[in-house]
Amino acid sequence: MPFDLVIHNGTIVTVNPEFEIIENGIICIKKDKITRVAAVADDRPPPQAKEIIDAGGGIIMPGLVNTHTHLPMTLFRGLADDLPLDTWLNETIFPAESTHINSESVRWGTLLACAEMIISGTTTCCDGYFLEGDVALAVNDFGMRAVLGQGVIDYPAPGVPDPAANVETAKAYVVEWKDISSKIMPSIFCHTPYTCSEETLTKAKSVSQELGALFQIHAAETKDERNRFLSEYQMTPIDYLDKLGILDQNTLLVHCIWLNKADIEIIAARQSKVSHNPESNMKLASGISPLSRLVNYGIPIGLGTDGCASNNNLDLFQEMDMAAKLHKASTLDPTVMDARTVLKMTTIDAARAIGLDDVIGSLEPGKQADIVIVDTNQPHLVPMYHPESHIVYAAKGSDVRDVMVAGNILVRDGKLLTVDLDAIIDRVNEIASNIRV
Ligand SMILES: [Zn+2]
Repeated sequence: MPFDLVIHNGTIVTVNPEFEIIENGIICIKKDKITRVAAVADDRPPPQAKEIIDAGGGIIMPGLVNTHTHLPMTLFRGLADDLPLDTWLNETIFPAESTHINSESVRWGTLLACAEMIISGTTTCCDGYFLEGDVALAVNDFGMRAVLGQGVIDYPAPGVPDPAANVETAKAYVVEWKDISSKIMPSIFCHTPYTCSEETLTKAKSVSQELGALFQIHAAETKDERNRFLSEYQMTPIDYLDKLGILDQNTLLVHCIWLNKADIEIIAARQSKVSHNPESNMKLASGISPLSRLVNYGIPIGLGTDGCASNNNLDLFQEMDMAAKLHKASTLDPTVMDARTVLKMTTIDAARAIGLDDVIGSLEPGKQADIVIVDTNQPHLVPMYHPESHIVYAAKGSDVRDVMVAGNILVRDGKLLTVDLDAIIDRVNEIASNIRV
């Protein structure tokens, strides 16, 4: 049999460099890789394969990439809303984490996050949390692709009671997970420039450089953070990180809201990447990132949902819609953040932001078969003039019909095939009943 899997009878949104859209297209897969992407004549039967999927005239697109999450925080979904970031963190989230986050709760919170992401079309995520070895075990068992960052912070944290051991713990985790699975890329996640000391930041960066791991950090998220750095160091947070040597092409800066022109020029010059999380930024009233200016500087940007406690879901379709509209409204310019630009921020540009653009992010021969089929035979998706417009402005995560990662079908007809979703929901509800008390 020439192919293991063939997908046909759909409109392929390739997100290749030409942004080719192929009506009545066909995708052939051998093992974990895409081997052919082409248009087929109506009268020709699909090539032979062990399995053939009829896309039913829907959209066939790359699996979505979420560039910033805190997976186990699904456990805190809706626990504390409508609060400023510092109150939300210090009075609710940090206390809840210190009491309720352990290996067991991390595993079930992560499995719930994976279930939510995969059924809504996200095949890869970039995470930062504590007990990340347990996160990695759960994501690996689930079969998703992920960059997973062990959290580093100068306070006692779940799994790291002594902050003096924070960087060593992260290093040991990256070393352990480096070659375990081709789908799991271990990383280091420093919490913020103000919850990690200068020494912690530089040590963590040098470990990430030594091991070739992505370095992630929340940065320039709030006005308070910027003012604090200006008054303490007479520098912006971005300038401060740059002076410490943190910024390079393997650094992912999350949020980047409070930036001046010099900050944007530094990020562009260092070839650092940015994760933009519009729903979290809006919900915590952190502000609006100057995204169209970052785009104009050619900075690779991926969208992220942030954790479930500040969003409160992991649906990237919703995030795309929000990102496109937020920046039009804030700049009074309907031409910014057009559908193609936004779709690239959850596919190829998101993959670039986390260092995986050679592997995923578009449907092209040689790439991994991380593929989503969207059911467009629904009232809110008819008619279809431009598929990318439907993806960004009209579709929802619940319109996703089939999902595969590395050629493995994880979702078919909207149902998870490889895990017991009821068992995950029951276990998370059980854990949540203690958090609520
Ligand atoms: Zn975050």
